[in-house]
Amino acid sequence: MKFDIITIFPDILDSYINESILKRAQKSKKIKIQTHDIRKFSKNKHKTVDDTPYGGGPGMVLMVEPIYKCLKSIKKKRKSKIILLDPAGKQFNQKMAQRYANLDQLIFICGRYEGVDARVDKLINEKVSIGPYVLSGGELGAAVITEAVARLVPGVLGSAESLQYETFSGKKADVIEYPQYTRPENFKGQKVPKILLSGNHKEIEGWRKNN
Ligand code: SAM
Repeated sequence: MKFDIITIFPDILDSYINESILKRAQKSKKIKIQTHDIRKFSKNKHKTVDDTPYGGGPGMVLMVEPIYKCLKSIKKKRKSKIILLDPAGKQFNQKMAQRYANLDQLIFICGRYEGVDARVDKLINEKVSIGPYVLSGGELGAAVITEAVARLVPGVLGSAESLQYETFSGKKADVIEYPQYTRPENFKGQKVPKILLSGNHKEIEGWRKNN
């Protein structure tokens, strides 16, 4: 699966997407993540991609033309979706992550400043928010969605079982994973439940279902 992230600050993302699971998944070619610098598509020599809003008001707005050109430069796969990160968009959740994981490609547009020119709406499929608060840019949102979706792509996690009982992964969205313990058996008087040390897999499974 391919993830394309359109941003004016690709460096913000580069270190995050090149570590840990995302790094391994790219190395094993299960996924590919590419950042695209909108400034490269600016037509003026100062590489400006924002301007003041028509009608007045505070701040700057990302221009539609460089975003349009950047989008055009990205090779589209058969099943792809273009997402604009927007605090007022549809709130992201695990069900959406599962839906997106069936696609071949997700393309993110990260807003900045006061946001993007409203004519970008005609270029996208969905507006998505990562929560009811306002961030300074869409980059963290693109990283959050990329990571949540990438770990559902077959082969990205070491063990497919990790996903089986994971929080929010059941048919009902309210499923929460059972409590996990590792060494030591006793930490300052807090003991690991005896049943987990019993080696009785049936009973352990029962305990996990009820906790
Ligand atoms: N003026 C906008 C408003 O009042 O809705 C906020 C713009 S915000 C400072 C700049 C950019 O950050 C947005 O265009 C969007 O891409 C991104 N952003 C901010 N909060 C977000 C959130 N909760 N989810 C997704 N993207 C967000």
